[in-house]
Amino acid sequence: MVGPVAVRGIVLVSGVNNVVGQSYSVLRGSLVPCPQSNTTNCNQTLFSQMQLTATASALEGQAHQAAATKIVLAGKLFDPYTLELLDNQAITICNDSGMILDVSPFSGNSSEFASFGGEVIDLRQLTVLPGFVDTHVHFFIHPYAEASWEDQVTKESIVERTIRATVHAKRTLMAGFTTVRDLGTEGAGDADIALRKCLSSPGALIPGPRYFCVTRAIAPTGTYGPKSYLHLNREGIDGVTGVDAADGTQECIKAVRRQIGAGADWIKIYADYTVRSRASEVSRRVGAASMATFDYDELRAMICTAHAYGVKVAAHATNRSTIIPLMSLRVDSIEHAYDMVTPDSTAAEMFEEYVGHKTKYVPTLAAYYTMTQGKGEIWDRAVTSFKAALELDLDNISCGGDTGVFAHGANALELSLMVRLGADWKKVLRWATLGGWECVRSRMWEGEAGKTRLAQVGDLKEDPRIVGDNEVPFGAVRKGFIADLIATPGNFVADFENAVSADSIQFVMKGGRIYKRDGLPLV
Ligand SMILES: [Zn+2]
Repeated sequence: MVGPVAVRGIVLVSGVNNVVGQSYSVLRGSLVPCPQSNTTNCNQTLFSQMQLTATASALEGQAHQAAATKIVLAGKLFDPYTLELLDNQAITICNDSGMILDVSPFSGNSSEFASFGGEVIDLRQLTVLPGFVDTHVHFFIHPYAEASWEDQVTKESIVERTIRATVHAKRTLMAGFTTVRDLGTEGAGDADIALRKCLSSPGALIPGPRYFCVTRAIAPTGTYGPKSYLHLNREGIDGVTGVDAADGTQECIKAVRRQIGAGADWIKIYADYTVRSRASEVSRRVGAASMATFDYDELRAMICTAHAYGVKVAAHATNRSTIIPLMSLRVDSIEHAYDMVTPDSTAAEMFEEYVGHKTKYVPTLAAYYTMTQGKGEIWDRAVTSFKAALELDLDNISCGGDTGVFAHGANALELSLMVRLGADWKKVLRWATLGGWECVRSRMWEGEAGKTRLAQVGDLKEDPRIVGDNEVPFGAVRKGFIADLIATPGNFVADFENAVSADSIQFVMKGGRIYKRDGLPLV
């Protein structure tokens, strides 16, 4: 890329930018058009824009166009594709669409933009990153240290739980997490679908991240709580069940269709669980043992049904023996996988199915850490499993802490634990940004069609007003991606945990709108 050339205060860059393997010419700043917008003057195609000559009339129009964009000046910018920290990058954003129009280097002197007609956001003292993505939260759950899971599910009304979820959404956004995937309302039914509507444009009512959700998780009869103390073989308490129970392939297919019919972005299944927990009164090992829940045909029925509708499937699976059939069925993410250890197994044996596989591994270290205070056999197993994945240099990892088990807003604990356990901080930042998008995005972004779509992102085709909040590309700061940006003054090398902590996140932008600036919420 060549450097910028100032033309009467409007920055014009021509050259070659490389986004996801595509080479194309770019125009930066207010001259960059914003296709698919009929409401502003930035609706010309790149091709036609490049044909413009610097006539007097065009230059007069620049001032008007400038108001349609804002520029973020980043002292450093993290690129999750290359793992580079780039110095002095100017990010131009379309105010109407919230899309990134251009990313180009600048001299470091903000006076370069003095006559720019739009807003200049000076973050030259900060490092800008794509907004973080937490791929495993529960907005309808709050920390177990405050109230047990069972008390929350059986004693807190749906009203209270929903109000709590709205508070959790804001805290999450202010901590720099601009997207989450909520893997189950845990007894709050389909309330996540209504919450998603309230968080999403147009007409978002409350601040919060992009919200991908599953409605009710699916597990077989008798598996999941809450369990009545009086009626031992009944599902749930007072009509509240933690999951949608399904048995046999037909019921499993129906359950998947129910969740999708309710509006689910994802399907969540419990593929193994402590099915015999009530035996713990007399046999603790049996009661604590996580065992496979569904048989292979049931798993296949659910995964195939979801995929046929273009919906991905997340599986709660802790044991290697459960995970192997799920991988063969092309499940989209494995949650936890904390117990990959088998007697005498090597790291390669523990994760061999993962090598070269697209299934995302979501280790949820933060949940195990907070539940065990980082001590004991369960934590040790989670650590051993994660370190085995590191030893194999797995990259199909995303960051999801099972947030809700611990406080919403403390989501970055998952990133910090990964680094503490030996992961390269740059890779962790990739897993928490681009890796998050690659996990949660719809199946329309996958396969050959997805590759073609991705290759055309620079053409500014993924306007949220056209495709919707959850279909836009995010997780990287490149032309055509949505402007989900955060910034921190922290030093990732010297103190990674401080750099990613909620208190250090000084700036949050989602969809081109600023929600936090100078460390203070604007909403
Ligand atoms: Zn969970």
